Amino acid sequence: MKRELNLVVSPAEAGEPDKLKSVVAGTLKVDKDRIFQLNVVRHSIDARNPRIRINLSLEVYVDEKPETRGKPHFDYPFVGNKKPVVIVGAGPAGLFAALHLIELGFKPIILERGKPVSERKKDIAAIHGEHLIHPDSNYGYGEGGAGTFSDGKLYTRSKKRGDVRKVLEVLNFHGAQDEILVEAHPHIGTNVLPRVIGSIRETIERSGGAYHFNARVTDLILENDSIKGVILQNGERVEGIAVILATGHSARDIYHLLQKREIALEAKSFALGVRVEHPQELIDKIQYHGTSRGKYLPPAAYTMVEQVGDRGVYSFCMCPGGMVVPAATAPGELVVNGMSPSSRGGKFANSGMVTEIRAEDIPKEFHKYGILAGLEFQQSVEKSCFRAADQSQLAPAQRLADFVSNKKSSSLPETSYRPGLISSNPADWLPGFVTARLREGLLKMGRKSNGYLTNEAIVLGAETRTSSPLRIPRLDDTLEHIQIKGLFPCGEGAGYAGGIVSSAVDGERVAEMVGQLYR
Ligand SMILES: Cc1cc2nc3c(=O)[nH]c(=O)nc-3n(C[C@H](O)[C@H](O)[C@H](O)COP(=O)(O)OP(=O)(O)OC[C@H]3O[C@@H](n4cnc5c(N)ncnc54)[C@H](O)[C@@H]3O)c2cc1C
Repeated sequence: MKRELNLVVSPAEAGEPDKLKSVVAGTLKVDKDRIFQLNVVRHSIDARNPRIRINLSLEVYVDEKPETRGKPHFDYPFVGNKKPVVIVGAGPAGLFAALHLIELGFKPIILERGKPVSERKKDIAAIHGEHLIHPDSNYGYGEGGAGTFSDGKLYTRSKKRGDVRKVLEVLNFHGAQDEILVEAHPHIGTNVLPRVIGSIRETIERSGGAYHFNARVTDLILENDSIKGVILQNGERVEGIAVILATGHSARDIYHLLQKREIALEAKSFALGVRVEHPQELIDKIQYHGTSRGKYLPPAAYTMVEQVGDRGVYSFCMCPGGMVVPAATAPGELVVNGMSPSSRGGKFANSGMVTEIRAEDIPKEFHKYGILAGLEFQQSVEKSCFRAADQSQLAPAQRLADFVSNKKSSSLPETSYRPGLISSNPADWLPGFVTARLREGLLKMGRKSNGYLTNEAIVLGAETRTSSPLRIPRLDDTLEHIQIKGLFPCGEGAGYAGGIVSSAVDGERVAEMVGQLYR
């Protein structure tokens, strides 16, 4: 007999299969030996009180062997001779669009400005070691897109926009851990993600889809108000029945191209701030109420949000046991972000700490750029950081309590940020109004979360790429650009997603629409 059960247990009971079996047997009032198998269907931690509890949803097989539960499986037909659809960008949006197009019987042609994931690693090493940013191969550009070298957090607030479960299953089918199908806050880790991305490429190529690396799109082939294809930096033309534009929010050249071609863009609010790094042990103590986490609890994460005036200050993309990374996509800029390995076993915990920037916040000197004002403002902060770092990828930094009390730190502690730190007054690299808002927000957070606001932690600048300052507007019914037939803006760069899963979901959704319109 299969029973479904929701249980609240201690971390030790959840962490030891035999203990868990005893608890389940007691709850169901059956002999322990009659339980053939326990499957955890959902796992989440409740650390609101000092007595930390684990919430479990279980499938329990009593007096019966479980039906063999296969891993998720997907069949991808051969589409090498089918209608071609051009996909610009091999990030989560582009890759999931490609996989779904194959399911629907179309041939995806993926154009990616960067390199395959294995070659990309060398360029990333050069950022850390030599402070060199390759303009087409870095943390933002290359196979797998911006999420490849990341924490690989797979949770999303977007539940309405498509099938999140399918995205998780496709990732699992391509080599991501089974736990992602169960955890309330799943993550893959930067050591596993590149393998998953490589496996997705194998599927696409085996099915007859095409990949072109080092293929930067520099122009669009437009006829009247329809798109026929794109032009690459070497002049090559690539044509298809439709073009999915999934270039991410770092591809400023694409926004400039659209503006030059008089293709409508819309300004939208975005977020900007710093990355905060604490010793992980300290975050564990705060989140687990003063005790160390012991062997059954994972490195603690946190989410914080405070209201400052009519704007939010909030944590973003928190990476337990992770490292801060240099995520600029062009020379002369400095951007920080975070990632962690699947174990989340590092000594530090980092998180973005950002505030919303609306049109009315953008300083006057940027208004001359019209619709691109937000983009130019965002870039100017990145350039200021680079200058504050003596034109290098050292990150301008301050101790957290010093930052909040407006004091320059005379020394800086150890950090996970491999290029290194430079102590620098935030006034040199962060707009005053952003600093002021962050200070107030952090002060409030420090009052609520005892120990968070400490000089053992640092802030590093600047966290600028949390979301896109622009939207590439599309029609609600066909998802095509509002002016250009056959052009499908997609994913984070189009302003319709934020994060790996929501971008992947948007990719699927756009592919589905291409299928409906061009079948
Ligand atoms: C360090 C880091 C850590 C992150 N951690 C997480 C996390 O843990 N969880 C999470 O949900 N999100 C995370 N993110 C954000 C996440 O990666 C993005 O939200 C997501 O990748 C967006 O997907 P996308 O496909 O829309 O765009 P992108 O992933 O940005 O992909 C766009 C692709 O288009 C290519 N491209 C751009 N311009 C051109 C052109 N002109 N021609 C051809 N190709 C082009 C780029 O090279 C890139 O590969 C992280 C981001 C970074 C940088």
